[in-house]
Amino acid sequence: MSFSAIMLASCAAPQGDEPWIVDRFDDVKVIRYEVPGFERLPLEEKELVYYLAQAAKCGRDILFDQNCPANLPVRRTLETLYENYAGDRTTAEWLALEKYLKKVWFANGIHHHYSNDKFVPEFTEQYLLSVIETIPEEKFGDELNALRGEVCTAIFDPAAYPTRLNQRAGDDLLLTSSSNYYRGVSQAEAEKFYAAMAAADAGNPEPASYGLNSQLVKDPLSGRLYERTWKVGGMYSPAIERIVGWLEKAQAAAAEPQKSTIGALIEYYRTGDLKKFDEYNIRWVKDTLSNVDFVNGFIEDYGDPLGRKASWEANVNFMDSAACRRTAVISENAQWFEDHSPVNPAYRKKQVRGVSAKVITVAMLGGDCYPATPIGINLPNADWIRKEYGSKSVTIDNITYAYDMAAHGNGFNEEFVLRADDRERMDRYGKLADDLHTDLHECLGHGSGQLAPGVAGGELKSYGSTLEETRADLFGLYYLGDPKMVELGLVPSLDVAWAGYAKYVLNGMMTQLARIEPGKNVEEAHMRNRKLICEWSYERGKADNVIEWKVEGGKRYVVVNDFPKLRALFGEMLREIQRIKSEGDYEAGRALVERYAVAVDPALHAEVRDRYYALGIEPYGGFLNPDYELVERDGKVVDVKIVYPTDYAAQMMDYSRNYSFLPLKN
Ligand code: ZN
Repeated sequence: MSFSAIMLASCAAPQGDEPWIVDRFDDVKVIRYEVPGFERLPLEEKELVYYLAQAAKCGRDILFDQNCPANLPVRRTLETLYENYAGDRTTAEWLALEKYLKKVWFANGIHHHYSNDKFVPEFTEQYLLSVIETIPEEKFGDELNALRGEVCTAIFDPAAYPTRLNQRAGDDLLLTSSSNYYRGVSQAEAEKFYAAMAAADAGNPEPASYGLNSQLVKDPLSGRLYERTWKVGGMYSPAIERIVGWLEKAQAAAAEPQKSTIGALIEYYRTGDLKKFDEYNIRWVKDTLSNVDFVNGFIEDYGDPLGRKASWEANVNFMDSAACRRTAVISENAQWFEDHSPVNPAYRKKQVRGVSAKVITVAMLGGDCYPATPIGINLPNADWIRKEYGSKSVTIDNITYAYDMAAHGNGFNEEFVLRADDRERMDRYGKLADDLHTDLHECLGHGSGQLAPGVAGGELKSYGSTLEETRADLFGLYYLGDPKMVELGLVPSLDVAWAGYAKYVLNGMMTQLARIEPGKNVEEAHMRNRKLICEWSYERGKADNVIEWKVEGGKRYVVVNDFPKLRALFGEMLREIQRIKSEGDYEAGRALVERYAVAVDPALHAEVRDRYYALGIEPYGGFLNPDYELVERDGKVVDVKIVYPTDYAAQMMDYSRNYSFLPLKN
């Protein structure tokens, strides 16, 4: 499982002169990210990062082929033009072709990475063929020349490969999806095939994830169904062999227990045996101490309509020690926070255990994590392993930081934040405020409080998740503004809290509406909880003008006039929400949510959407990887250097030249 960034984030401290956004096209921006702390890693760990990073780059073609069987021929054709075309590169049609190629790189194929719809080219087939004409045939090679017709059909025929992933109920989801996980197999046949496999293993408390690492094929002659397993010697072998080669080097550089963990992964890639994959996952989830960590394999099943086949992805990371210290300090003081919380003492927990969340710095993204990446990961996916051994949940700090940086200067704050002092505070402390609020919400908020005797939980029914998020958010907001935060050294001053409050109120009362379609109300639990907190505080603080609507130049703004009073309101509300939960008071919970959290003022909604979309902010982001270079002296590795490229197309061409190991058809 992975979690993705909320795209409306903004507000961050400007730093350095290098632009954070290195390329933008269509609805996408490409952002560079930095790897703070890499230089300070001990040499063994730098080397380990290097080898794992190499392994992370070797599976890129696998993902292209998994997403659609036409992807590799299309990409290779366009790259050959990109490299060799000597004609006019300033015409509208050439620029459209270039944009199309950038989109194919970004989406790892010809379908949009988020909507799954096939891209519509803004150049003609005639133009493509005329460009191809100008380039000597040998540049393409026999394999690609033979696929020319298929490439044109894939790009230009709307009926060919229309969607990567069709989830419309009633359709045959396999025959109508263009991904390459099944070949000639109907949905009913695939379901029957795997049901039989599961039946043969019924009662096993540790079931393997059948079908996870293979393509299911129907033999056109005999009608027989069989799996082509992704392993050394199986499907995708040329790429997997390279991955294994780098993993072996990583294994040699790693210390126990990681050495054995990597060994188990290599065994799995060699045999394709899913039992070995479980064994690897158990070792991986138990290892919480190794500073360098990684994901590498067939992991996420979102791309298969049946949720069975996994796309290849990779990620290399190490612990962000400063951020981990932050969550450790919060966790160590968990009891203090609980004892001082504004809720009724009867509903405080007598003994609390804080959870310390791991924060990581990512060093390399690969496969389905590149260029678009989640900002957090929770693995492994197998339910029985999660139950028996737990899971690892991490947030990726340098990626959220880069998102924030890229949002700076996009005009968002200038458009929506009225007062200069609020903008400055948000610029300086917005990111720290967000991080701390998340830490308090996750490490303490959800785990705080206790139920009254006789209350089982679950009484709040469909309002339960909104009210639970409200409770955790209020816990975070209340303590963000507590002098204890300064005393613990977590913030330099309460300005951090005031930055966080201003940002929270702006989002909860205004800007989050930009993500809601016209005519719709607020549905999603987190969005409802933010609206609930802000609207309630607005109404309760009205007499003191704590939060105020202002109109200037015909535009609406929301401002906080009194931060300490707002904090007191958060405390009051936390007390009430905890009471509702502890007593299971469904009626009170329902009334709050329905009154404050759901209905959208249509005029405000339209205004927010107009102003937000006029800024032209691309809704999707992805990332450019750093490069790593071994520094050798007398045949020995003495250092690993990190380099930050800034050219998106150059990185894609580099990967296609140096990390492309598969034939065009697999
Ligand atoms: Zn939560």
